Amino acid sequence: RGRARVDTEAGDLKLVNVTKRFGDFAAVKDLTLTIPQGSFFALLGASGCGKTTTLRMVSGLEEPTAGRVLLGDHDVTRLRPYKRPVNTVFQNYALFPHLTIAENIAFGLKRRGVKDIKKPVQDMLDLIELSHIGARKPNQLSGGQQQRVALGRALINRPQVLLLDEPLGALDLKLRRQMQIELKRIQTEVGLTFVHVTHDQEEAMTMADTIAVMNMGRIEQLGSPTDLYENPKTTFVANFLGQSNLLPGKVAGPVGEHLQVVLEDGTRVLIPAARNRAGGEEVIVGVRPEKVSIHSSAEDVPDGHNVLAGGVVTDTSFVGVSTQYVVKGPYCDEFGVFVQNDGALIHRPGSEVVVSWDPSQGFGLDGKQDIDAG
Ligand code: ATP
Repeated sequence: RGRARVDTEAGDLKLVNVTKRFGDFAAVKDLTLTIPQGSFFALLGASGCGKTTTLRMVSGLEEPTAGRVLLGDHDVTRLRPYKRPVNTVFQNYALFPHLTIAENIAFGLKRRGVKDIKKPVQDMLDLIELSHIGARKPNQLSGGQQQRVALGRALINRPQVLLLDEPLGALDLKLRRQMQIELKRIQTEVGLTFVHVTHDQEEAMTMADTIAVMNMGRIEQLGSPTDLYENPKTTFVANFLGQSNLLPGKVAGPVGEHLQVVLEDGTRVLIPAARNRAGGEEVIVGVRPEKVSIHSSAEDVPDGHNVLAGGVVTDTSFVGVSTQYVVKGPYCDEFGVFVQNDGALIHRPGSEVVVSWDPSQGFGLDGKQDIDAG
């Protein structure tokens, strides 16, 4: 029984029109995706959107109902899991409790009959920065250290693709943040393709070169963290990655390099004219809370800003690095406009305020979408 993996050229990981049905239910719908070799790629989405199913089709634990999985030029769609040059690190990393850290890491090499394991094991211990405690047993390690051992155990097999399924889910927030940086460092050092599944947008943004935001078995949007944050294409993405103010309106027409939009209360604002939109077309004006400024009077508004006047501060919170305000006015729904500014709390609840932003800092979304999606 050959345990040898197929000899694929390292290359891009591709999913081509991949669908996975469980009975009548389609967990993944006609997904087409290229994950460049050597990249840190995140599949981001809420519980049940199909992330894990997608990952399992890459590792071979699930077979697609339709479509193909390619590694480089090699079609691996029907290849057994152990024949694929792919390894997975799970959240419950299940180390062998009776083996030392070094033995846990050596396990995959021994199983494959590799003779000279001392150097590769030592190199791996160095990479995960646990050389000093290689002789310990797993129960003598912290959660973060155990997770690093699991990573080392997967990496020592030299997979071409490493899959990470919510690998940091069991760790507390502080440790998770440390491990995010650690994982990114290790990925950069080994240069392998990492595909990371998470529902945590901050985690995806910290580590990934490219993020695919998944929703109900499909990709909503794919891009770099900056691109997704600054140019979301749907309300789902605008709400799922960070917070957004979304104000519905209708296109009035072009003004210079911007488009003028009339909000529901008649206020006119500008959005970047990223694409052609006809006059009268429904559009949603979006702006991130930290791009919005708040002023006591309209006279303080910088030239060229969009201005929303006649608002009242209804809620404030000071969170150290910033102050957050909720401002309600005729231009927004009952949830108000969120503002996040550096520094001290200046405007108290009940204060009348004007909010404004540089039009180039906002974005426009197609109308006729659920504003609360995500
Ligand atoms: P989570 O973060 O909760 O793991 P996910 O985005 O990874 O969510 P999947 O585990 O891929 O989601 O599941 C997607 C959908 O497919 C879910 O609605 C799930 O109930 C369903 N599903 C997954 N595996 C099976 C199965 N073996 N049989 C039936 N339905 C399944």
